[in-house]
Amino acid sequence: MKPVEWQTCLCSSKRAFADRRSAEKALGRAQAKRDRHAERQGVRRGIAREHRIYRCDRDLYHLTKQSRREYLGAAA
Ligand SMILES: [Zn+2]
Repeated sequence: MKPVEWQTCLCSSKRAFADRRSAEKALGRAQAKRDRHAERQGVRRGIAREHRIYRCDRDLYHLTKQSRREYLGAAA
């Protein structure tokens, strides 16, 4: 499977994606990988799935583990 292309953003050292589609693709793969891992471990509870996509001021897309509540709290 061809990896999703990414670049390093000037706003941080995190992976950045040029468009939302690429970010969503990478997000989906990350979640699928984690779900497979959880299945092997036999633990389904407490799986963090709050990954979100956000666009930074460099017009690039990042993935974040921040939960919706934290996100809204930070925005308030
Ligand atoms: Zn950025």
